[in-house]
Amino acid sequence: MTDLKFDGRALVNGKRIGARDGQTFDCISPVDGRVLTQVARCGQADVDAAVAAARAAFEDKRWSGMAPAARKRIMIRFADLLLEHGDELALTETLDMGKPVKYARGVDVNSASNCIRWYGEAVDKVYDEIAPTASTALALITREPVGVVGVIVPWNYPMIMASWKIAPALAAGNSVVLKPSEKSPLTALRMADLALEAGIPEGVFNVVTGYGPEAGSPLALHMDVDCIAFTGSTRVGKQIHVMAGQSNLKRAWTELGGKSPNIVFADCPNLDKAVEAAVGSIFFNQGESCNAPSRLFVEASIKEKFLEKALKLVPGYMPANPTLPDTVMGAVVDQIQMNTVLRYIESGKSEGAKLIAGGEQALAETGGCYVQPTIFDGVTPEMTIAREEIFGPVLSVLSFTDAADVVRQANASVYGLQAGVWTSDLNKAHGVARALRAGTVHVNQYDEDDITVPFGGFKQSGVGRDKSLHAFDKYTETKTTWIRIDSPV
Ligand code: NAD
Repeated sequence: MTDLKFDGRALVNGKRIGARDGQTFDCISPVDGRVLTQVARCGQADVDAAVAAARAAFEDKRWSGMAPAARKRIMIRFADLLLEHGDELALTETLDMGKPVKYARGVDVNSASNCIRWYGEAVDKVYDEIAPTASTALALITREPVGVVGVIVPWNYPMIMASWKIAPALAAGNSVVLKPSEKSPLTALRMADLALEAGIPEGVFNVVTGYGPEAGSPLALHMDVDCIAFTGSTRVGKQIHVMAGQSNLKRAWTELGGKSPNIVFADCPNLDKAVEAAVGSIFFNQGESCNAPSRLFVEASIKEKFLEKALKLVPGYMPANPTLPDTVMGAVVDQIQMNTVLRYIESGKSEGAKLIAGGEQALAETGGCYVQPTIFDGVTPEMTIAREEIFGPVLSVLSFTDAADVVRQANASVYGLQAGVWTSDLNKAHGVARALRAGTVHVNQYDEDDITVPFGGFKQSGVGRDKSLHAFDKYTETKTTWIRIDSPV
């Protein structure tokens, strides 16, 4: 695998091509600062070409006109190819964005493949409807692909974020133009190569690489894109909705940021498990997870004991070279993100939170971007580190006195992505879970996940849901067809 070669050209209409104006940018590895390859710096003209290819493919029905069972077979082949190339894709992801290779292979590649397989499997099992009207007419309620879908994704789970959108969109018969993050473009390009190899026709799945304002905005503003599906920051997500409204009122779906509360009551059924989950979930993927439980609320009476146990686990998360097979915490995605995380750590210190673990850059001698696993105690709700999404390995610990107090604190956020509740009291678990304004609530665990369940947020965590059969709603239009029946009998 050390001889891995990268092709940073875009993929439009089945061909790898550079940007029309020849521009490129360096793809830099956060593992050690080396340049992996040059990537096409696409702009308006490249997006126009990709959208035109996607439109042509949609109009001539080379994909949308296939029987769902035929699309299914190709999608399953695509999912298989991701697994066959799993080691290559995993190492590419690790070098490109810094996550440990064991998770890139065991989580990212497997989840992306499973997602594509699942939507492929589903698409010939979803039926349309007939409305219960009077017998003088027949009203068919059918689903049709929306057309050309633009997809813009972030860098934290590049393959998974892309597959959550392209899989239901492609399965439903749409054509797609995907813009991966400029910080992690390489696996998206390989996914598109493998989609072609699997038999997805040319023009159906295109990838344009480049920066947000240069390649993302033209896609979101494009008059011939019917739907834009975005995952990323709340700041850019808001712009996506504006761009959709400013252009052709394309359907806009956004999966955005989070500051998820994880609430541990004193009657938690298994304190050790709660500690492991609290620590493991914030440090997994270097804390670069939208649903990371970054606000930990521990009932005051058990906080000291809880933190004593938590601190014992921290050394196990010290960052190391992510290409090594046993590493559990790797590099954050780039210098910019590392500096952002370090600035948040400084703000925690200056606003009076108590730093009890980490707080420093690590492995600076490697030339890579590493941050120590960091915990702040004594955090109060008005502090910056309690309010803003850090998107790094930083845990803010707050405390509370009763259920009403903690629900009020937990809900006092512009975000509403996920939440955790730990208690042995069934009434408290259900009551608090209902009161929390979050798209997903975890009870007595924080790591359950499955393609069968919707994923998305309340409030400024976004609009719409990824995963599950609900995702088909985003990539299809609902049509009513009335047929008059003048019955002779
Ligand atoms: P980001 O918003 O900076 O970028 C996301 C994508 O949008 C990138 O591809 C980027 O190039 C593009 N972009 C940037 N500016 C743009 C513009 N003006 N027009 C069009 N596209 C533009 O986010 P990020 O830093 O890549 O990712 C981190 C964010 O993603 C965090 O806030 C995280 O919570 C969120 N996220 C959310 C989920 C979820 O499912 N809710 C999942 C993963 C990540």
